[in-house]
Amino acid sequence: LVIPDWTAFCKTMEEIFEQVRPAHAGSVATYIPQLARTDPGYWAMSICTVDGQRKSFGDALQPFCLQSVSKPFTYAMVHSELGADELHSYVGQEPSGRLFNDICLDHDKKPHNPLINAGAIIVASLVMRHATLSDRFDYALQQFKKFGSSTGNIGFNNSVFLSERETADRNYALSYYMREHKCFPPNTNLQDTLDLYFQLCSIETNSDNLAVMAATLANGGVNPMNGERVINNRACRDTLSLMYSCGMYDWSGQFAFRVGLPAKSGVSGDLIIVVPNVMGICLYSPRLDSLETVFKRFISHYQRNTVRGVKFAEHFISTFNFHNYDSL
Ligand code: GLU
Repeated sequence: LVIPDWTAFCKTMEEIFEQVRPAHAGSVATYIPQLARTDPGYWAMSICTVDGQRKSFGDALQPFCLQSVSKPFTYAMVHSELGADELHSYVGQEPSGRLFNDICLDHDKKPHNPLINAGAIIVASLVMRHATLSDRFDYALQQFKKFGSSTGNIGFNNSVFLSERETADRNYALSYYMREHKCFPPNTNLQDTLDLYFQLCSIETNSDNLAVMAATLANGGVNPMNGERVINNRACRDTLSLMYSCGMYDWSGQFAFRVGLPAKSGVSGDLIIVVPNVMGICLYSPRLDSLETVFKRFISHYQRNTVRGVKFAEHFISTFNFHNYDSL
């Protein structure tokens, strides 16, 4: 067993979970009404090890949209399909050092990485790009299902999708800017690409299942619950490398420094953390930290990581030696 004393481990995890619960800082994402209406009190944590031990705490069956946590899975899926060379001829591997939805490209006129909006829109354009939009979405949803538990809930939130599309000036602006710079593959339909991008953000699951999805990444791309390979090793390695350097918005460097593990957060308040060869962890709490004191006029655009999720990660790493460089 990868965690020999499972009962003791779960007890400590539960203690950390309860220690973090009183944290009430931050606020729920407000850029679309569907997210603004979320109960800010939800708090969930789930663990799944690479040998299939699982445990969930709190509101672990409460559905939420993946939002940006869809990005590493879409990347992994396209990577497995196209390979690193073709995929990375369209998108870089560098943290942008900018905000996640900034209108900027790297010195090759490519988006900096697949985990910011610009890069994720490009990756969306590459998902089965010769098929119809409906087949492309079906394919993506089927692939996402394979990362999780066979009985896990995974669905689609249409009202989130519709309101994402209504409130997407920045993503449209980013896409036109990228089209101007010939970032997309030939014959890309911009509206289809953006629709698919919004649909991927609107895929819904819960903490219990998302921990299994994270555990598939911890396990080199093989689903620990049924032994099926979902993506190849190289796609998994590259996904984790990017999560390590770019997964936490403009706090990625700090997260890598403090926690030292690949992770990805989304604006719904979800967060996955991967302990390679050990386990996947999912945290869900909708209150986000923000840069509002720095950027007073743009508060809604600078909401960022789940407050409780990040606090949990910090407590977790001070309790167990899972930081990438703890073993030195
Ligand atoms: N749908 C959001 C957007 O594209 C994703 C936000 C996020 O989770 O970062 O703006």
